[in-house]
Amino acid sequence: MSKMMKAAVQEAPNKLVVKEVPVPEINDNEVLIKVKYTGICGTDHSIYSGKYSAEFLPMIPGHEFSGIVEEVGGNAEGIKKGDRVTADINMSCGHCFYCLRGQKLMCSEFTQLGIHTNGSYAEYVKVPWGQVHILPDSLSMLRGAYIEPLSCVIHSAKAAGIEMASSVAIIGSGLGIPYALLAQHLGATKVILIARNKQKLEMAHEMGVDHVVSVHDVDDPVAHVKEMTEGRGADTVVEMVGTSATYETAWKMVRPGGTLASFGITAPDDAMELKPFDVVLGERKIVGSTAGVGQDWPDAIQFMASGRIDPGRLFSKVVPLENLEKALDELKNDPLLTKVFVSPEVSEEEILNK
Ligand SMILES: [Zn+2]
Ligand SMILES: [Zn+2]
Repeated sequence: MSKMMKAAVQEAPNKLVVKEVPVPEINDNEVLIKVKYTGICGTDHSIYSGKYSAEFLPMIPGHEFSGIVEEVGGNAEGIKKGDRVTADINMSCGHCFYCLRGQKLMCSEFTQLGIHTNGSYAEYVKVPWGQVHILPDSLSMLRGAYIEPLSCVIHSAKAAGIEMASSVAIIGSGLGIPYALLAQHLGATKVILIARNKQKLEMAHEMGVDHVVSVHDVDDPVAHVKEMTEGRGADTVVEMVGTSATYETAWKMVRPGGTLASFGITAPDDAMELKPFDVVLGERKIVGSTAGVGQDWPDAIQFMASGRIDPGRLFSKVVPLENLEKALDELKNDPLLTKVFVSPEVSEEEILNK
């Protein structure tokens, strides 16, 4: 009989059940990881409610994780039992039109661990060995579980081409905080973080984000950004909320010749108003980005291991696997919660930062 483990299985929309399932069996090209922490992400809310990935259920969600290598397939190189690791969740065929161009996110066989295939809300998760990244000793296991979201931010910042001494306006306070810190490290000298949640904005300011703006305090955020940029608008504007309204606001903040970096995921049929005139004569650009891939992962590791970006202040608490559903609910309703981690190794909630 196969070895069993505890896992949170999304059996149907709004039906998340913690139960015993078989430990994944690995082949020669895979590695089995004993999960330490998994960060709860907005995507998990979408999977829970059935907005996203419903066709892949039943499935174990969870895609922002760290853990310890338990078992290594015969073909794996440079990885051994006991290594502290995280893993790139993005898998593709490796040889199609898109994969050959380094655009694996568009591959027709593209899948993400914990979104399309079984993830890390479990005691064990298996991944292809080539996706594994070893964590430096200076990086805590909690921070190891934050590499996936930071890699997404890095991917977007690269696509946006943030320049030194430039201005960057960011709408949204979730991943907007590490994005703002990253933009400052890349050399942007005027970084403006705009959001609703005052507590998170205060936290962002404490963490070193230069300018934070609450939408409750300004009549017109577009006019405010223009005021701060000599009337032009920002060189780069990043939309991280994912609604038509915030996309339209973000677009109005882009200076002529500037770039809108699109990060927030809208519903598939949401639309925004955009005047081609502003694109043609304003030479404005829109760049999309969906996930961190390839080098974005080692880059995220370096930013955190060096201490350049320390998300620790955002870490609210660790909860047992059994409390995942409760934590999903709390995250929707408690504005003071930022990052919550799930661990199969704890039996009680551990508060990290108040
Ligand atoms: Zn995520
Ligand atoms: Zn492909």
